[in-house]
Amino acid sequence: MKEILQDYSFAELQALVLESGEQKYRAGQLYRGLMRGKRISDITDISKAFKEKLLARFEDEPVRIREVFTSSDGTEKYLFELSDGNIIEGVLMSYKYGRTQCVSTQVGCRMNCAFCASGLNGLIRNLTAGEILSQILIVNAKFGGTPEKRAVTNVVLMGSGEPLDNYDNTVKFLRNVTAEGGICISARNISLSTCGLVPKMYALAEEGIPVNLTVSLHSPSDEERQKIMPVAKAYTIAEILKACENYFEKTGRRYIFEYSLIAGENSDAKHAQMLIDLLRGKPCHVNLIRLNEVKERHLSGISEKEAYRFLGLLEKGGLSATLRRQIGADIGGACGQLRAGYLDGKTI
Ligand code: SAH
Repeated sequence: MKEILQDYSFAELQALVLESGEQKYRAGQLYRGLMRGKRISDITDISKAFKEKLLARFEDEPVRIREVFTSSDGTEKYLFELSDGNIIEGVLMSYKYGRTQCVSTQVGCRMNCAFCASGLNGLIRNLTAGEILSQILIVNAKFGGTPEKRAVTNVVLMGSGEPLDNYDNTVKFLRNVTAEGGICISARNISLSTCGLVPKMYALAEEGIPVNLTVSLHSPSDEERQKIMPVAKAYTIAEILKACENYFEKTGRRYIFEYSLIAGENSDAKHAQMLIDLLRGKPCHVNLIRLNEVKERHLSGISEKEAYRFLGLLEKGGLSATLRRQIGADIGGACGQLRAGYLDGKTI
């Protein structure tokens, strides 16, 4: 694989342009083209000779849209192909205020959560910062968006992969996606979801990029959490809560817990009570999700009625909580489901 030009910040592009013997203003032209989701070969205002030099060293199109599936509710699910042929997926949700894109940070995942399709074949490789960014640049461009008038307004790092297990590339991506002059999506409009890699949560709090921090909790008890999330053997819930509080102190951002409701595992009234005891009074929000059943995983979700009952218990106990609308379930809405289905040789 060649290098990826979308990994570069504007300052790095300027250095590259000067090294190549080009005039400094060429960096601006190049950057503007890239931020509009263009392939290097489609950027018209740089010279042919410089373009050829770039194409010898860099991928022309590091991420391309392979297929788009549209759900009956309007949600779009993307299969993207990387330059080495690997496949990743993403989701685009449209709202009145704009569009939220869910991006992947790794091909596969090594966390192997019991309910999730992304970890079915382990981790294949990390994405580079530019491969994460390109997912957004090309979808933004597809809808006629530009850096000045974005079609994609919000980003969630909730696709395949564990962003904090690919820490350096993820942080570089966050710097580049929030940079002035680029696509410039505000950190307030970006949410990073982690399974709870505690040391990296502390590190992220020091980066000066106050994204919304979301933690996949999925159980109020360490013992039960370990059964569905192997990573829970490495970090306790108490350690996660401390890291969240530190994040809040450093960034002023309220944190969010994801809680996927699984029949017989974490969705009884006693779990609701334990969650209330654990989280009451903390500057956090609980996002309940009904499990998207993954056939290889043999776990079941609960009914909508039961999910609302669980929500009601949390609210009565004083927690701020919502039940996330189940979106795109007919198109393999959950992490890794679409890619897993695709690799299985079937289309959904
Ligand atoms: N690795 C990150 C991002 C994962 S995806 C993390 O663990 O947070 C975002 C959320 O979807 C996580 O909370 C994840 O646990 C959840 N999730 C994954 N598969 C799911 C499924 N089949 N049904 C419901 N939620 C799922």
